[in-house]
Amino acid sequence: MRRPPDGRPRIAMDQTGSDMSETNPRRDPKQVRLSRRSFVTQVVRGGAVLALGGGALGLVAGKSARRRTGDVRYVWQIDPWRCTQCGQCATECVLDVSAVKCVHDFTLCGYCKLCTGFFPPYADIDQLDTAAEKQLCPTGAITRKDVDMPYYEYTIDESKCIGCSRCVKGCTQYGNGALYLQVRHDRCLNCNECSIAAACPSDAFILRPADDPYILKGKGRARI
Ligand code: SF4
Ligand code: SF4
Ligand code: SF4
Repeated sequence: MRRPPDGRPRIAMDQTGSDMSETNPRRDPKQVRLSRRSFVTQVVRGGAVLALGGGALGLVAGKSARRRTGDVRYVWQIDPWRCTQCGQCATECVLDVSAVKCVHDFTLCGYCKLCTGFFPPYADIDQLDTAAEKQLCPTGAITRKDVDMPYYEYTIDESKCIGCSRCVKGCTQYGNGALYLQVRHDRCLNCNECSIAAACPSDAFILRPADDPYILKGKGRARI
C-alpha cells in the first residue's frame, strides 16, 4: 500500500467538514456528540469487532433483529466486506436522499492517477478527461486534485453523494477498496425495519451498538 505523497498519516472519512461521528440527536438527545478524534477511535474499535468475526456480529445480524438487548441500543450499518455494490442503497432508503454515503479511507488509498473510483475502467491513462460526463459519479460528488505528481487526491462532497456505489464498485474491483459505503448516523432515522436491509442481496446490513456505529475498513483489516 502506498503512503500519502506528503507523508501525512490520515484517516479521513468525511471531506466536507461535517462530523461523521455525530450521533443522531433526534433519536437520543442524551448521546454525546463526539469529536472527530473520538470518532476515529470508535471506528477503529469497530473494525476490531468486525475482525473478531461471527460471534459478536452474529448476535446482532439480521433484517429484523431486536433493537435493544438490555441497555444496549443498536443502529444499522453496512459491513463493507459483504457489500456487493448493487446500487440499492441509493434507491431503497425511506429518505428522499439516502442516509448511505460513500466514505474514503485515506489509509488505503493509492492516490492513483487513473483512479477507478473516479474514471471509468476503460479510460486512457494518457488522456484522462475530467469532464463531468466522463466521470463515474453521476452527481459530481468527487473532486480530483493533483497533490504531488504523479499522485492525486480524491475527495467526496458528501452533500452531493447519493450512495449509488458506482465509485465503490470501481475502487473495489480495480483499486485498493479505499472507497466504501457507510450509513451516516447524522441522517439515518434508524428505522426498526430498514428498507435497504430488507432489499440488500448480500446481507451487508448489520446492527451495531449505537456507541460504536461505524466500521473503518482499513484499520479493521490491519488488526486481523
Ligand atoms: S443494498 Fe447491500 S449490496 Fe447493495 S449497495 Fe447497499 S449494502 Fe451494498
Ligand atoms: S459515485 Fe455514487 S457513491 Fe460514489 S460519491 Fe458519487 S454519488 Fe456517492
Ligand atoms: S434505517 Fe431507514 S433511514 Fe436509515 S438507511 Fe435504513 S431506510 Fe434509510
